[in-house]
Amino acid sequence: MKNKKYAGVIKRIHQEKPQAFEPKEILNVLDNEPVIYPEQLQLWEWIGNYYLCSEGEVMAAALPAHFKLSSETVLIANEEYGEDFSALDHDEYMVAEALLIKKELKLPEVQQILDSSHVYPVIKRLIDKKVCFVWEALKETYTAKKETYILLNKEFDDEEHLSKLLNEDKKLQRAEKQMELLLSYLHLMKTQGEVTKTELLKKSGATDAQLKGLIDKNILWSEKRTIDRLKYLPRNINIDFELTTMQQECLQTIRQSFTDKHVCLLHGITSSGKTLVYIKLIEEFIKQGKQVLYLLPEIALTSQIIRRLQKHFGGYIGIYHSKFSQNERLEIWNKIKTGELKIVLGARSSLFLPFENLGLIVVDEEHDASYKQQDPAPRYHARDAAVYYASLFNGKVLLGSATPSVESYYNAATGKYGLAELNERFGNMNLPQIELVDTKKIINKEKNKVILTPELQQAIEESLNKNRQVILFQNRRGYSPYQVCQVCGWIPKCNNCDVSLTYHKLSNKLQCHYCGTTYPPVTVCGACGNHNFAQRNFGTERIEEHLDEIFPKVKVARMDIDSVRGKSAHDNLIQLFEQQRISILVGTQMVVKGLDFENVDLVGILDADSILSFADFRVNERAFQLMEQVSGRAGRKDVEGKVLIQVANIKHPVLAYVQAHDYKTFFSNELEARKRFFYPPYSRTILITFKHKMKDVVESAAQLFAIGLKNDFGKYLIGPGVPPVGRVRNQYLMEILLKLPKDASTIHQAKISIQQQTAILHNNKKFRSVVILPDVDAV
Ligand SMILES: [Zn+2]
Ligand SMILES: [Zn+2]
Repeated sequence: MKNKKYAGVIKRIHQEKPQAFEPKEILNVLDNEPVIYPEQLQLWEWIGNYYLCSEGEVMAAALPAHFKLSSETVLIANEEYGEDFSALDHDEYMVAEALLIKKELKLPEVQQILDSSHVYPVIKRLIDKKVCFVWEALKETYTAKKETYILLNKEFDDEEHLSKLLNEDKKLQRAEKQMELLLSYLHLMKTQGEVTKTELLKKSGATDAQLKGLIDKNILWSEKRTIDRLKYLPRNINIDFELTTMQQECLQTIRQSFTDKHVCLLHGITSSGKTLVYIKLIEEFIKQGKQVLYLLPEIALTSQIIRRLQKHFGGYIGIYHSKFSQNERLEIWNKIKTGELKIVLGARSSLFLPFENLGLIVVDEEHDASYKQQDPAPRYHARDAAVYYASLFNGKVLLGSATPSVESYYNAATGKYGLAELNERFGNMNLPQIELVDTKKIINKEKNKVILTPELQQAIEESLNKNRQVILFQNRRGYSPYQVCQVCGWIPKCNNCDVSLTYHKLSNKLQCHYCGTTYPPVTVCGACGNHNFAQRNFGTERIEEHLDEIFPKVKVARMDIDSVRGKSAHDNLIQLFEQQRISILVGTQMVVKGLDFENVDLVGILDADSILSFADFRVNERAFQLMEQVSGRAGRKDVEGKVLIQVANIKHPVLAYVQAHDYKTFFSNELEARKRFFYPPYSRTILITFKHKMKDVVESAAQLFAIGLKNDFGKYLIGPGVPPVGRVRNQYLMEILLKLPKDASTIHQAKISIQQQTAILHNNKKFRSVVILPDVDAV
C-alpha cells in the first residue's frame, strides 16, 4: 500500500472500533472550525443514499479543490498575490518563495522544503491567504486580464472614524494633494461602488506618488484583481418596477401555496415575466433575513441574467460559475457561509454551498435536463436535491418553467406542489404564430434533406427587409453528421465508438462526438474503394455556409460548442446579437436557453424530424419543450413573432400541441402514455450501465446481474440489452432498466439488491473490472 494522504471531513467522533477495516491516523487537522454545516452533511448523505453512490463521491463534487488536499495535490502560484511576502511566517515564506521561482509545486517537494511531513496546515494557510491555489485539471485555461483596484481601509467604513480622519488628522490635512485625492476616491466609491487605480488617477489628476502616500498611511490599499470577476457593488436593494395585475396575482398564489406546501411550480409562458415575480419574491425573503439560491442551467447563466439581478440586488448577490477562478469561488463559499452574501445565482453545483440560513431556492427552467449530472457520480438531479436541501432549513422551493417537466407538473396537478400560472405575455404581446413546412415534397435528387425550404428562405428575406433579426435552430453541430459512400453505402465510423463521424469543414476533420477523436477526411471508401461520397444531413456549420451563399451581404453567426469555446465567447456572441451587429444566428440548444432578444421576429426550426425521433420515453416531452422554447425566442415587446418548422413527419401529434401552444393537452396525453407503459411519474426508474473492454465479459456480467435481480424484481426489469450506442471509448456497454412502483420500501429493497449484486459480481475474478454504474431517475 502506497503512502497516500487524503483530506476528509470529520462527521462524528465516537469510541466504537471499526470492524471491517484498520483505521488510519489523522495526520493534521486543517481547519479550526467546521468548513460545512450539518445541513450539508445531511444533503451529502441523502444524495449518497438516493443516487446510489458513496458520500466520498458526493464530497468530491461538493467541496472546492482547496479543501481536498491530498498527496497528489499540485500547488500553483497565484500571480495576483505578487511578490510581497512580508505578511507570511517562516514556513509559509519558504514555500511561497519556491512557488515564485518554480510556479508549481507537488506535495513531496513542499515536504522537502519544510523538511517535515506536517505540511498541510502550512499549505492551507497559504491558500487562505491566496498566495497559491490547488491546480485543477482542465480548468483555469484562460488567462484573465488584471486591473489594480483601490480600496478603503476597513476601519474607515465606520462613519465616525472616517470623519475623524478627514477633519482631525493633522498629517493628512497638511498633505493637501493627498486629501484631494482621498475625497475624489470617496466620491467615486459612492457613485460606482468600486474604483480602479487607472480611473482614480485620471479623474483626480493625482500622481502615483500621492496615491502611494495614502497607501503608506494605511488609509487606502491596492489589490490586483481580474477585471471580469464579481463587482463589488453597493449593498442595497433596488426594485424599480411594478408587477402587472396578473403577475401580482401569481405572486399572491405562490405566497398562499407556501403557507402549507414547501414547493410551488410556476408555469409561465415565455415572456410572461417570470423573472419579475422571482425578483419580488426574493426581495421578501431577503427582507426576512433569509438567504436565497437562484439555480439556472449552466449555459443559461449568461451576463444578461447576471446584469439583470445585480441591478436589483447589487452587492447582496454572488455568482457561482464553473468558469470562475478558484479564488472567486472560494470567496463566494466563505461569504455564503458567514451569511454576508444573501443571494447566489449559480448552476447545478451551487447547491453544495454552505448556506447558513436558506429561505428559498428558485429553480429556473426546472425542466432542463442539464440539472441532472451524468458523469461522474453523484448522478444527482439538482432540482430534486434542491427540494430536499431546502426542507432541511424549512425553506421553500419555487420551480419555474414555460414548459414544465411532466414529473413536476404531475406533482402540481395532484396537489403535492402548489401551482401558479402566468398565461399572458408581457404587454399583451401575442404568442408567435407557428407554421409547419412539409419537407417531403421537396426532397432533392440525392435524397438529401433540404436545408432551407423556399418558404423559410422567403420569410428570412422579409425579416431582413424589416431590419429584424432571425434565429435558426438545428440540434446538430458540425458540417454534415455523416458521409456515405454513394456506391456501397459505407459510412466512416469511429475506431473507439460505434458511431458515425461528423465532418467539420472549418477544421477539415472528421470528429467523433462521443469520444472527441478526430480523423482526416475520408476520400476512399473503406469497403469498395470508391471515391464518391455524399454528405448526408446537415449541421450548424453547413447551415452557416449555406446562408453565406444565399445572403452574401448579411452578417451570420453560429452558436454551438465549437464556436463558443473559451470563457467569454458565449457572452460576446450574445452581446453582438443584442446590439444587432449580427442579423442571423444559427445555433444548437445554446440559442434556446435563458436569452431574450427584442428584435427577433422569426425563428426557424430546420429539422424537426431529428428532434421527434429519439429512442427514449421522454422524446415527446423533450420535443415539445425544445420547440416551444425555441419558438418563445420569436417576438418581443412590439415585435410580432413567427416560427417556421420544417418537418417531414408533419402529422406527429406533438407538432399540433406546439402549434397551439397547448401545454395542458400535451400534458394529459403524455400522462396517458406514461401510465400505459408504466413510466415516470407513475414509476421510478433506475438504469444500470455495465462497461468493459471485452464484449463477451460485459454481456455475461449484465446477464448474471439480471438473473440476480429476477427473483424479487423480475416484473420490473427490462433487459439486459445493448444501448443505441453500444461501444464508447473502446468500452462495450450493456444496460438494465428497472421500472419500480413508487413505494418507498420496494425502492429501498431494489437499491439494496443492486448493491448486493454489484458486490457479488465484483467478487468474481472474471468480472472484477466491469464498471457498474447505477443511475437513479435517469434522464
Ligand atoms: Zn463504398
Ligand atoms: Zn469515438
